[in-house]
Amino acid sequence: MRYICTRGGECDAASRAILSGIAENGGLFAPSSLPHMSKSDIEALSALSYPERAACVLDLLLNDFSHEELLPMMQAAYSTFDTPAVAPVHALNGDTHVLELFHGPTLAFKDMALQVLPRLMTASGKKQQEEHNIAILTATSGDTGKAALAGFKDVEGTSVTVFYPLGGVSAMQEMQMVTSEGQNVHVIGVHGNFDDAQNGVKRLFTDPDFIAKMKDQGCVLSSANSINLGRLVPQVAYYLSACADLLASGAITWEKGLVVSVPTGNFGDILAAWYAMQMGAPIKKLLCASNANDVLTTFFKTGVYDRRLPLHKTISPSMDILISSNLERYLYCLADGNSDQVNAWMHSLKQDGVYDIGEEKLSIMQQTYFADYADDNMTRAEIRRVFRDHDYVMDTHTAVASHVLNVYRAATQDDTPALIVSTASPYKFPCDVLSALGVKESDAFKALTTLEEISGVAIPAALSQLHNMPRLHDHACHPADMDQAILKAFEK
Ligand SMILES: *Cc1c(COP(=O)(O)O)cnc(C)c1O
Repeated sequence: MRYICTRGGECDAASRAILSGIAENGGLFAPSSLPHMSKSDIEALSALSYPERAACVLDLLLNDFSHEELLPMMQAAYSTFDTPAVAPVHALNGDTHVLELFHGPTLAFKDMALQVLPRLMTASGKKQQEEHNIAILTATSGDTGKAALAGFKDVEGTSVTVFYPLGGVSAMQEMQMVTSEGQNVHVIGVHGNFDDAQNGVKRLFTDPDFIAKMKDQGCVLSSANSINLGRLVPQVAYYLSACADLLASGAITWEKGLVVSVPTGNFGDILAAWYAMQMGAPIKKLLCASNANDVLTTFFKTGVYDRRLPLHKTISPSMDILISSNLERYLYCLADGNSDQVNAWMHSLKQDGVYDIGEEKLSIMQQTYFADYADDNMTRAEIRRVFRDHDYVMDTHTAVASHVLNVYRAATQDDTPALIVSTASPYKFPCDVLSALGVKESDAFKALTTLEEISGVAIPAALSQLHNMPRLHDHACHPADMDQAILKAFEK
């Protein structure tokens, strides 16, 4: 297996693709062909621990990593989770299940990949004989920042610097970041919004003067963004793991399979589900669930991707996205590996803000995907309904997927068992979840206690101590001075 680049070219080794993050022509790396797992291969996963399952799947997807090498990495990565099952499946009832991906240190599904990526990255550095330290730079609107800080904390040969918009993340998210421990972590507030922080980081990656100064500090730059191959592959593993669990418990059959509903922003999580399906998982349909930022819904219904819309701020902020970067990997497959076609679509998106894949591709796409959306009111109503009917509290992102599953079932009468992907703990967004349940509370820390009383599920340890922890990071800078801010942080 090799790794193709969606905009042309290829890369011979997974370790090289992981170190580079993005290809020089702006394209994304993806496996040239997907390995196949048979029914008995998938069933056999159910007898293994989660780290063993992940090592099996990553061994198939990464051409220059062996199972022996991967297993201790997976064991270390997932030892930080609060349940040995790592990604447990919870039954709402006989035919609707929830895949809980929020048991990691930051309570969002990004931990599933960001606990693994640093380990893959240092191993890739050794394989590619990279002598410099790897400096991860990232801008965050909330969840990615803390997950990257937790993942790279004290990982030898790496450092991580997170920029976040001052006043632009939730109080809980800010506390999670500024209390981060670790010798190699930096958290810097930016006077500006998320786009200012994001554009600032993008500029740094292509600023020759800054790159040279970082080299003097012994560092090369890299990104923990979800377009990195090393973030995608750990996500494929939990879909195969869930299928193994559901087959073993008899909740699904191999013949009838399941439908999977995924709360989608950058299209990384649902793309991993599609890869699992191509590898042989008995997934019949993928439901792409968006919030009020419903660009993808329109795309899957009409074949037209149009980002010329205002960005809405919603109660599911991790999905407030107009350009879903990872969709490009799916488009590459849809175009039968024709990178000129992908280039043309991406060029049109950049130039005009829109592209149209045409009738024929649309109908191919619709055989696999169904898409719809939930606005904030529908999301709140779904949190309320699920709590009333199933005594289970969902977070705001998960509820979007649950709502779209209802829409799909009503529209198609399909009675295939379903898996709803749960991407965050309700405790991560306690005020909005409480408000959906009819309780007003604007203090996030008080909301934790109230939510605990209502749900009967204990407050995760990672949050219960947060308000007592010292603020370790209080640096701030203007968007134009981000380079200076990093260099200063590295000099100490
Ligand atoms: C990042 C995130 C998503 C969206 O995942 P994508 O891979 O970007 O589609 C959904 N829910 C939560 C809680 C997230 O943090």
